[in-house]
Formats: sequence, C-alpha cells, structure tokens
Amino acid sequence: MPLPLVAIVGRPNVGKSTLFNRLANRRDAIVTDIPGTTRDRLLAEVAWNDSRFILVDTGGLEPYPQDVLRDQVKAQVEAAVDQADLIIFLVDVEDGVVPMDLEIAGWLRQRQKPLVLAVNKVDNQKRRASAAEFEQIGLSEPVQISAYHNLGIYDLMDQVVPTIGVSPEETEDAPEGMSLSIVGRPNVGKSMLVNAILGEERAIVSEIPGTTRDALDTPFLYEDKPVVLVDTAGIRRPGRIGRSIEFYSVLRAMRAVQRSDIALLVMDATELATAQDAHILGDVWDEYKGIIVVVNKWDLVPKEDPGEREIAVQTIRQRFHFMPYAPITFTSATMGQGLGELMDLAFEVYGERTRRVPASRLNHALMDALGDHMPPARKGKSLRIGDIRQVDINPPTFLVKVNNPKLVHFSYHRYLENRLRATLGFTHTHLRLVFKGRM
Ligand code: GDP
Ligand code: GDP
Repeated sequence: MPLPLVAIVGRPNVGKSTLFNRLANRRDAIVTDIPGTTRDRLLAEVAWNDSRFILVDTGGLEPYPQDVLRDQVKAQVEAAVDQADLIIFLVDVEDGVVPMDLEIAGWLRQRQKPLVLAVNKVDNQKRRASAAEFEQIGLSEPVQISAYHNLGIYDLMDQVVPTIGVSPEETEDAPEGMSLSIVGRPNVGKSMLVNAILGEERAIVSEIPGTTRDALDTPFLYEDKPVVLVDTAGIRRPGRIGRSIEFYSVLRAMRAVQRSDIALLVMDATELATAQDAHILGDVWDEYKGIIVVVNKWDLVPKEDPGEREIAVQTIRQRFHFMPYAPITFTSATMGQGLGELMDLAFEVYGERTRRVPASRLNHALMDALGDHMPPARKGKSLRIGDIRQVDINPPTFLVKVNNPKLVHFSYHRYLENRLRATLGFTHTHLRLVFKGRM
C-alpha cells in the first residue's frame, strides 16, 4: 500500500514551503548547476507518531511563465485534489481573507476531499484575534499556526493524523524481484520504452505466486528473472488536457519511485538534463533509491562523431554533479536498441543494492579508509570511529559507531561513503551511513 498523500495548497507566499520544511525534516539540500533548482523537493516522507505520510509542497513546482497566477494556483489545487488523501489549505493571517482564498475554498468544496484549514503566521496573541475572521470561509474550524515560529504544529497534526490513520508497520518487501519505476518529462519516450522492454517475446506474468500487486504494475519475467514495472498505467495513460498534467505526472511518478527499487530517469537525447530532471533526481536521491539515467531517442543523434556518447555523459555529469556514480545508458525505444544493456545494468544495480558484505571485509575497508585519512578535529574535539556493521540492504545501510555523531562533518561522511563504495565495489549505488553515538 502506498503511503497516504497530504498536499499543502494555498496562494503564493502564505508559507507553504515554510510549513513543508517544518514538517519534512529535510536532509541536505540538493544543489545542481541548473538555476532555480536549489530549492526544492516536491515530496517528503513525514513520520508523526504512528503515522507516516507523503507530504507535497505544491508551491515548489516550476511556474509556467505563460500562465496567469490564478490558473496556476487552480492547476495545483486540482492536481493535489486528484492525488491527495488529505489537503492542508493554508491561508495567511497577515493578509486576512482575500478573494483568491474564497475561490480556492470553492474549488475545494466541490471536490469533497478531507480538508484541514490552517491559518499561518499567527505568531503572537494579537494575531490570534484576527484569525477568527477565517471562519467565514466556511470550511472547517481553522487551526492557527506559525510555520516559521513552530507554533500550533501539533494542533495541526492532531487534525491531520486521525483522518489519514495509522500506517501499518513497514512491511518487509517480499522477494518478488526487482521493481523499476520509469520517470521523466512528457514525450521523452517512456511509454515506448515500456513497450520495448516488455517486447512481445517476453511473457508477461499476470501474477507471481504469493504476491499481491498493485493493479497498475506490470510484472514480467526477463530472462527468467522476475521484474515489476511500477505504475505503467500512469505512463501509458493518454495525456489529460490542461495545465495540471505536468504536475499530476510528476506527482504520480514520484509515488511510483517510492514503491520501486530503481528509478529509470528517461531523457530525450536531444534535450539532456533539464531542470525538471534535476528535481526528479533530487527526490530519487533523497529516497536512497537506485537510479539509472536513460538517454533515449539516441537514434536522433548523428553518429559520425564517435565522441557523442562521451559528450552526452559529460553534460549530464556536469549538471548533476551530486550524483557522480549514477550509471548512464543509451537507448532507442523505436529501434529497439540498447534495451539489453539497460536491463543488464538494472540487474547490476539491483545486485549491488541487495548485497551483504561480510563483517571482516567491511571492517577492513573501514580501517583502510581511516588509515588514509583520519577524521579532522572539530572545535578541538576529535571524532573516533569504532566499528561498522551492515544492518540492511536495498539500500545498503551501514551502522557506524562513533564517540559523538555531531562530530561527523558532512565532508567526512562523504569521504567515507566514497571510500567504502570504491573498496567494496558499490559502483553505482548510494550507500546509507548511519552514525551512532556511544562506543
Ligand atoms: P509559499 O509561497 O506559500 O511557499 O510561502 P513561503 O513558505 O515561501 O513563505 C512566504 C513568506 O512568508 C516568507 O518570507 C516566509 O518567511 C514567511 N512566513 C512563512 N511562515 C511564516 C510564519 O509563520 N510567520 C511569519 N511571520 N512569516 C512566515
Ligand atoms: P512519453 O510521454 O515519455 O511516454 O513518450 P512516448 O513514449 O509517448 O513517446 C513520445 C514520442 O517520442 C513519440 O512520438 C515516440 O514515437 C517518440 N519516441 C519515443 N522513443 C523514441 C526513440 O527512441 N527514438 C525516436 N526517434 N523517437 C522516439
């Protein structure tokens, strides 16, 4: 079961991303060379007491310059309503009730989704009095919060959590084979690629015994190995009309990523590494999913120059420098080229992600890394590293005992990860290192 989805909607500047960040407990921001992409994740998994849900910041989407503001907000609201299990409708006490609030309320009322109205920027007592004016919107009793000052967030969540319910314990993934999600901008060739991968000669298994699967997913056997393509319905479904399409497909794709082991990020060979690709990559990275960059429509690139591949690889690597080890492969879905390579690569990444490293080898690798580069002292205190243990696969997760996790500097964390990847042969995989105190 996918986690419930909670979307924050509202006019610009009411504090949507502030609230998102407040709830999302962000990890490091992703930085790319593409302007306008330092901000933002669109989605985050939030754990609150016994509930877990996916939170969406609808304000974090790329604006469409050709849209007037009203249409843009409307598209976001519509997409959120389509996909979300609950909506947090955010308004701003500084501005009071403005016409667009009433308009949004009207759109929301028609759709009858579970809804929580939150009045933001209620930073002090005086503002509490003004917040009452939002009762005239006539939705629900407004919750007063200050996203910025961290006030009222518990009250807000007290309204959210009972509606979406308690999440079941994280279920152990049944060993039903590798699952792949296929993401990318519209028209890069995702549907063609799905069809080409499935190809006629391969048997599509309607059901793998002992597993229940989402009806939207396509399980099949590839060279006798079970594979699931996640939410192919979302890919093959014909485009809906209107502005919300792009938002809608991004949202849907991200949920598919969350259910998969590896995301195939498909790009058009004639238009590499766009801002939206960077957004998607950032989210995939934050989820510790495997990733393969697929440069499709490779048949469109003139092949006289044998250096074309190298140039494409360099362009992508330069723009996505936070992910230097994501493998890049080339396909032509229409010509049926590069598919074997792609699938082999996927199995290779999957193999890495599900590998367990023997304890002795792991400790050797750690000693080796420490030997070459001891952790630098911070503020006169030095980090001491005890032992290392692999506690999980998919993603490979390692517990590192240290004297004080606060002393682990970002750059040392990265050094260790890179060294472990190199020594242990995790060529294409993001490792998760968890530092725990008290040796
Ligand atoms: P968005 O456009 O809805 O995503 O709004 P932002 O999160 O970017 O916030 C818009 C502005 O409101 C920023 O300057 C925030 O610092 C400010 N803001 C957000 N939450 C609060 C709050 O609780 N109190 C006050 N006083 N300002 C806030
Ligand atoms: P999607 O929106 O990402 O699912 O893209 P589609 O699979 O619908 O493909 C969009 C367009 O690109 C279609 O006209 C396809 O025929 C074309 N296309 C897809 N893959 C290739 C390819 O490898 N080479 C070429 N030349 N065109 C392709």
